[in-house]
Order: sequence, then C-alpha cells, then structure tokens
Amino acid sequence: MTIIQNYINGAFQPAATGNCLDNYQPATGQIYSQLPDSDSVDVAAAVDAAQAAFPEWQSLGREGRSRMLARIADLIEERLDIFALAESIDSGKPLTLARTVDIPRAVSNFRFFSTAAVQFGSESHNMEGLAINYTLRQPIGVVGCISPWNLPLYLFTWKIAPALAAGNCVVGKPSELTPMTAWLLAQAAHDAGLPAGVLNILHGLGPRVGQAIVEHPDIKAVSFTGGTQTGRILARTAAPMFKKLSLELGGKNPNIIFADCDFEEMMRTTIRSSFSNNGQICLCGSRIYVEKPLYERFRDELVRRTKQLVVGDPMHPDTQQGALVSRQHLDKVSGYLDLAREEGGRVLCGGERLQLAGDLKDGYFITPAVVEGLELHHRCNQEEIFGPVVTIQPFTDEAEALALANGTEYGLASTLWTRDLNRAHRMAEQIQAGIVWINCWMLRDLRTPFGGVKNSGVGREGGWEAMRFFTEPKNVTVRYGGY
Ligand code: NAD
Repeated sequence: MTIIQNYINGAFQPAATGNCLDNYQPATGQIYSQLPDSDSVDVAAAVDAAQAAFPEWQSLGREGRSRMLARIADLIEERLDIFALAESIDSGKPLTLARTVDIPRAVSNFRFFSTAAVQFGSESHNMEGLAINYTLRQPIGVVGCISPWNLPLYLFTWKIAPALAAGNCVVGKPSELTPMTAWLLAQAAHDAGLPAGVLNILHGLGPRVGQAIVEHPDIKAVSFTGGTQTGRILARTAAPMFKKLSLELGGKNPNIIFADCDFEEMMRTTIRSSFSNNGQICLCGSRIYVEKPLYERFRDELVRRTKQLVVGDPMHPDTQQGALVSRQHLDKVSGYLDLAREEGGRVLCGGERLQLAGDLKDGYFITPAVVEGLELHHRCNQEEIFGPVVTIQPFTDEAEALALANGTEYGLASTLWTRDLNRAHRMAEQIQAGIVWINCWMLRDLRTPFGGVKNSGVGREGGWEAMRFFTEPKNVTVRYGGY
C-alpha cells in the first residue's frame, strides 16, 4: 500500500504524530493508500522552513523563479501518464479526462505563471512637476494554498504556481480525499531542484491541518477553493487576523437557452457542461432554463443523450462517467434525488446507483440524472448538489430567465445560448455571476479573472489578478527637485 508523506523543508516525512488516514479508491470502495494526519505541529515546521527559504527564493530573482516553475511544468509533462493514472485512481474520474484535462492544465498553470513571473510589472503615477509615485509589488512572504477534491492537481497548481511566481514560499494542503497527485507534485518540485522550504505540502483533515494553516500568525494570506460553508469558517478565522483571503466557493450555475440557438452545438456542450467529471466541477451548469418553444425538443434530446453516457470503469477508454469521489458524496447526491421526488420533481432519467462487476462492485457509481418539474424555490434548485444531476425548466422571456438565473445565493458561472448578440450582451451585463459564457462553456483563457460573486466567493484568480493577490503593493513617492 502506498504511504503518502508530507513534504517539509525539502524532505519527505510522516506527520509529527505518526498518525495516518485511510485513502479510498472511489471505483472500488477499498482503502488503497494512507496519508499523514497532520496537525499544527507540522504546520509550524512547514512555516519555519518556508520563512527560512524566503531569502534564497528572493535571491533567485524573477528569471530564476521563472526557470524553476518551467522546469516543474516540464517534469509534470514528462510524467503525464503517472500523474493521470494517479489522479484517476484517487478521484474516480475517467483516465482519459485526467490525461486530457486535469494534468495538462496543471502543466499549463506552471508554464503560464512561469512567464507571468518575468512579465509582472507595477504602476507609476506622475504628479507633473511635483513628484513621481511608483508602486512596488512585493511578495507577501509565506502563504497558504488549500484546495478541494474535484480537480485535485488542476486547482492546487492554479494557486501554488502564482504564489511561487510572485516570490512567496508556500504551505499547501490538498483535499484529504485526493492527496495522491499533490504528493507526486512534491516529488516533481524536489526533482526540479526547487530549494528546500519554498514549497511545503501537508496532508490531512481540513478542520485539523487546514484550520492550523489558516490560524498560523505567520501565514499572511490564504488562497482557498472549496465549499461555501468552509469558506465561512475560513473567513471567520482569518478576519480578526487581517489576513488576505481569496475564496473560490460553491456554485449553482444557470444555463439559459434561447430557441434561436445553434441546437446541435448547444446540445453537445450542454451534455458536457452538465456531466463532465460527473458534474463535480464548480463551473458545471446545474439549472437549465429553456425558452418555451424549444423546451420539449430540448428535454427529449437531453434525456436521450444522457441515457447514452457510458458509466463505468474509470480506466476503460470508452468510459464517460467514472465513480463519485466518496461514499458520503454518493449518499448526498442520491439524497438530493430523493428530495427532488419529495419536492414534486420528476426524475426523467438516471439517479440509479450502479453495482458493477468484480473489483468495482463496491464503487461509488450512479447514473446521470435529469429532473423536471421543480420550481426555483425548491431546495434542489437552491443548494449545490455537485454531482451528475441537472434540473430543467421552461421560461417565457428574458426577464423571467434573468429572475430564475439570479434567484439563488450563488453567483459563480453561467452559460447563455442565443444567436442574438444584442440579447447576449444585454443579459451578460445583468447576470449575477463572475463568469458568463456565451455559446460555449469552459473555454478558459488563463489571463482572465476567475471567481464568483455573492456566496460563490471573494476575490479573483487568474492572470494579473492572481499575481496581485499574492503581492503587497507599496507606494513610494519621490518629490522632484528636493535635493
Ligand atoms: P471543502 O470545503 O469540504 O474542502 C476544501 C478544502 O478545504 C479541503 O482541502 C479541506 O480539507 C479543507 N478544509 C476543510 N475545512 C477546513 C477548515 N476549517 N480550515 C481550512 N481548510 C479546511 O470542499 P470540497 O468538498 O473539497 O470541494 C467541493 C466544493 O468546492 C464545492 O462546493 C465546489 O463548488 C467548490 N469548488 C469551487 C471552485 C471555484 O473555483 N469556485 C472550484 C472547485 C470546487
């Protein structure tokens, strides 16, 4: 059995207590590895190491840091098959998805911020004849990066890469449900020659080691992606210490489909935006609103295509839907389907737990579901299910579509399908979300601001937004002709 280790000060080691947690393989429901059950003692050691490493990381300069990040990217890319297999086994997602999306994106994250390290600049403000202001953007020091299980390496590196590029040292923690590729990342960073202490990766439970990271007085900024409820706990902990916080939280994203859309393109994309990674992507559209004249055609076609999705062994190349991440999550998703029926919804397809053969008989498999007949106020339309479940509902006009789209506490992403560009721009302006996709979904440019409004989070990741988050601006004013 693989024993995952912490990575502190350039050394692989168990938790200080020696305690371990079991790690389950979602496709088999069996324990297949163990990870350190770290706590505040490990966090203290990691912070000490990070503080000690900070001057050396500074002395490498922008170009040195850029080269280091590029080397890590190259090593992950060289080890793509190893990383993809590990991600698939650990999370239950199809191997093909890990190979084509998760791991390549982790490589892109390091490459992107490797170049950002050398291109990041700062502003100057001239006061004619009087003075010049220039703004230094200095690294914060030691920062925390905490990530969830749904896109494990993808999201972990989305934080770590800009944090390092901006000149910080990092104490990172992946989800306890999917620790494997973070451990492989530590090995890649080590092999790339990253100086000891620059990147420290701790494993364990959120309320124990995660909380200790947020509480540590010398971690001055925390970048977090996870659930809205956890975000609240982080905010409560960090606010009295005046820490910088970036919170990327839950979503309940609407897809708004007008009758004039390109039907085939919309259908192909809607299947992806509903069920990619089993709907376990914060950007998945989970509430689908369709203009009345198109509603029945859309519904029948969505159900037909959803039934065709292949649920099965994540290792099989034909598999489109793997296992959900944990038994607890499977129970949660099934529970929402029971609730949908209680609330008066009709489950048009899916929602059945699947028992596969052989080693996979205890895996966390469920068929993707489409639910009709629920109103906006129903819990299944208000709460984040984060699984392969979508609700569908007709609308009459733009005003109703907007009211439905904006009618939850969340505001992460949204998708709009229409050939009428005036309408698209008009609606994009009024949708309460950090991201609006028009006639597409998950088309990502890493330079763009990424994040949500309302209870979907605070702050933005991506491009210069991330570099600004991970630096402190200091304004310097020089009076002309003073001496
Ligand atoms: P989670 O909030 O349970 O856990 C996220 C991370 O926080 C894990 O590493 C966990 O160990 C840690 N954690 C838990 N309690 C903590 C505490 N008290 N202090 C510090 N860290 C703590 O979320 P999850 O179940 O792993 O992930 C699913 C959620 O993440 C969904 O709500 C989803 O929408 C959200 N998500 C958001 C985005 C986004 O970009 N907005 C992206 C992906 C996932």
